[in-house]
Amino acid sequence: TMCERLLAEPNLAQIPVIFLSANNSEYDVERGLSLGAVDYITKPFSLPILKARVRNHLALKRKSDLLTELACTDGLTRIANRRHFDQTLDQEWARSLRNHTELALVMIDIDEFKPYNDQLGHTAGDFCLKQIAQTLQKTLHRPGDLMARYGGEEFIALLPDTDYISASLIAEQMRLAVLALKLPHPTAQGPGYVTVSLGVASSYPSALPNPASLIDLADEHLYQAKCLGRNQVSC
Ligand code: GH3
Ligand code: MG
Ligand code: MG
Repeated sequence: TMCERLLAEPNLAQIPVIFLSANNSEYDVERGLSLGAVDYITKPFSLPILKARVRNHLALKRKSDLLTELACTDGLTRIANRRHFDQTLDQEWARSLRNHTELALVMIDIDEFKPYNDQLGHTAGDFCLKQIAQTLQKTLHRPGDLMARYGGEEFIALLPDTDYISASLIAEQMRLAVLALKLPHPTAQGPGYVTVSLGVASSYPSALPNPASLIDLADEHLYQAKCLGRNQVSC
């Protein structure tokens, strides 16, 4: 049926469907609702009642869209949260496996952020996190790319169909973009501004046991970047 075809189409499946039909048997109504229609109105119908029902369903739809968005968003930085990242990583992992393409991750950690918080306070720390999150997000341009807050002051970028050379170049752009913010750091050894360290990993999913192992690789490189003096990319 038309309703089944709508619901099978990923771009259309989220659109609420209301049946308006002359078929008013218990069987037809039950079937329409079971297929996923939000409502079933039989002819002859009252226009004011139809309008009221549509209004109610639109209000519900707006609330449910907002809930979906909130469930995927980090409250402080307004970028994707860990939950959304984990889901997307699983999806992109499967897609890369099917398409035989590489999948890259960039793990990003703010350097010496504890002393920043201790010296300037948590409000300043939160403001810094927001600015860095937004800046990192803006360095991504492809539709499939995702920037997420991974933990407290750690971020992670998911880059589908990207080899490690391209991913390293993007990571270097991220490093430079954060540096260009020129957020004064009270105790930094380096340039006197807030900086980030970045770890890059890229692989064909068939070469690794699971998505977590790609995260571990990026994390190992992040650790390398910290050990080598911070404010740098390791890949
Ligand atoms: P390193 O260069 O090795 O990364 O040192 P670091 O001080 O950044 O690392 P560490 O993991 O010791 O510190 C992380 C700090 O990040 C701890 C905490 O004060 C701060 N932090 C984590 N989440 C938040 C947050 O939501 N808001 C604020 N203001 N600070 C946070
Ligand atoms: Mg950290
Ligand atoms: Mg840190």
